[in-house]
Order: sequence, then C-alpha cells, then structure tokens
Amino acid sequence: MLGEHSSNRASLLRIGLIGDPVAHSYSPYFQQAALDALGIPARYELWQTEADELPARIASLRDPECLGANVTIPYKEAVLIYLDAVDPLTVSIGAVNTIVNRDGYLYGYNTDAPGLLYTLAEQGVGEYDDEGRFSLRGYSVVLLGAGGAARGAAFALGSASVTRLVIVNRHVERAQRLAADVAGAFAVPEMYSLNEPNSLKPHPKSLIINATPVGMHDDVYPLPLEVLARFAQDTFVFDMIYNPVETRLLREARTLGVRAANGLPMLLHQGALAFTLWTGQPAPIEVMRSALWALQESERGSSL
Ligand code: NAP
Repeated sequence: MLGEHSSNRASLLRIGLIGDPVAHSYSPYFQQAALDALGIPARYELWQTEADELPARIASLRDPECLGANVTIPYKEAVLIYLDAVDPLTVSIGAVNTIVNRDGYLYGYNTDAPGLLYTLAEQGVGEYDDEGRFSLRGYSVVLLGAGGAARGAAFALGSASVTRLVIVNRHVERAQRLAADVAGAFAVPEMYSLNEPNSLKPHPKSLIINATPVGMHDDVYPLPLEVLARFAQDTFVFDMIYNPVETRLLREARTLGVRAANGLPMLLHQGALAFTLWTGQPAPIEVMRSALWALQESERGSSL
C-alpha cells in the first residue's frame, strides 16, 4: 500500500515504463496527471531498457521508493521469470504489463485484458448480466494477432463468454497455440485459428479487433479491404493502436459506415487499473481521460 511506502519518506516515489522503445508512450502524461490530482508524491518516468539491462531494471523495482512499473514491447513475456508472484489469469495469458512492489516483493498483473473489456462495455458492446458479470454472449470476434496483446484479449473475451472467436495470425501455429490455451481455460462454443483472412465469414454482432502493430508505422491495414467490406454495419472495429489517432483500418471502416474506435480507451482503462494496484487508491479516471484526450487532440492537430 502507498501509505507504507510514503509515511516516513520525504523523497519522491517512482513508477516507470519498461520497454524498448518507450519514447512514443502516452503513459507518463495521464499517469502523472492522476498522481498530481491525488497529491501523491511520485513521478512516472520512461525507462528505456535494452535486453541485457532487463534483470537489473527489474531488480531496481524492489527499491522502497519504487511503487512499480508498466511493461511494454518487447518484455511483457520476458519479465515473468523475474517476479515473485503472478496472478493466475496473468500466468495463463503469459504476459505481464504491470508490476507492483510490495515490501520488496514483485507482483505481476495483466491489466490489458480487463482494460479491453471496460473499453468494449463503454462502447456499448456486450452487457452486464444479472450477477454483474460482463458478457459477450452472442458476439463473434475476429481477433487479428496472437502476440502479447492478442493473448490478453483472447483470455478476456473467453472470460466474457464470447460465442465465436476467430484468431487470425501471420504465423498460424501461434494462433493455434493461443486458441488451444483459451479453450483450455474457457468454454468458447466456436473457436478457429486462421492465417487466411479471405476465408472469414461475417456473422451478426461481429467485432473485429486489431492486436497487431500493422498500421502503426505505415498507412497499411491488417485485413484486406474486400474482407472488411463483407461485414455488416452492426460490426464494431477496435484497433488497439492509438498513435496514429486514425489508422487506415479505422478510416476504411468508417468509410464503410462501420463503427470504429482506436486504442486510447484501452490505454486509459489498463492504466487506471494499474494506478490502483500501485497506489491502493481509486484512479481519478476523468482526470486521466482528460489528459489523454487533450494529448490526442494535439497529436491530431499536429498531423493536419
Ligand atoms: P507482439 O507481442 O509483438 O505481437 C505482435 C503481433 O502482431 C503478432 O501476432 C504478430 O504476428 C503480428 N504482426 C507483427 N507484425 C506483423 C506484420 N507486419 N504483418 C502481420 N502481422 C504482424 O505485440 P503486442 O504486445 O501484442 O502489441 C500489438 C499491438 O497492440 C501494438 O501495436 C501495441 O502498441 C498495441 N497495444 C495497445 C494497447 C492499448 O492499451 N491500446 C495495449 C497493448 C498493446 P506473428 O505471430 O506472425 O509474428
């Protein structure tokens, strides 16, 4: 808990983002806004880390002044072996995006997975059942990718009782492995793994989720346009990429009249969950949202 770290210390607490590269990240902006809003004397930093520096970087998180870290590409899987405890869902996912330092012990979590479900709920996709559980029963999802983010998404979708999950990946063996892992944990009635998107058949209440970096660096799309065009207008397209603000996939979806959103809400929700894990306090989500949306608007303005 934060109180134990800060009670008798005048020095600044630290949280950081571990990855390579990290310079592009929006996390310092909205996490710092949240820390400042609650008067928590901590700084959120960018910790650019080369592969051979990773063990020392993780060891440094045990410092009493460190609350923990976020982890991004390419270390979400690699950090697992350095941690003292990892929650069971995160073990199944096989990827950690949040590390918490509790009295020198390091705990690993995956907040990307619940962050995606909060995002879908906020977008009006899925519903809460009578027991307050979020449900995607009746939905068909095409998940593009089988890497760390896709693994989190697939387990989250499985936990929300999605009806049909099609995992499309460049290397089909990886998609098959992910499908088998999810099927081992959740009863998904229809599960497929493909590397040939042309064989995709649209279904009512479809969701297309891009969990690849395709579209981040070049103006290209991860799904052929003729395939996207087959989907009905009640489809929802979610691209985990948030920079650029509008990828080619989102642009083409909107041109077809299909509802679409970028990865910013997921960044917000995974970050809010991580904030609570580090500080033990509810995240000031509207402060975080405003900081992120202001940044997005300035990015949009500068790309015009
Ligand atoms: P990763 O573990 O490296 O996985 C990358 C995935 O993309 C793999 O399935 C890979 O396929 C596929 N891929 C990569 N380059 C490709 C290409 N040129 N053509 C086709 N497929 C390609 O990365 P990750 O951590 O899952 O991240 C994926 C994306 O999600 C990134 O853009 C990341 O920024 C974003 N993300 C966003 C949030 C958020 O909060 N908005 C959270 C997490 C991740 P193979 O298996 O065939 O190599």
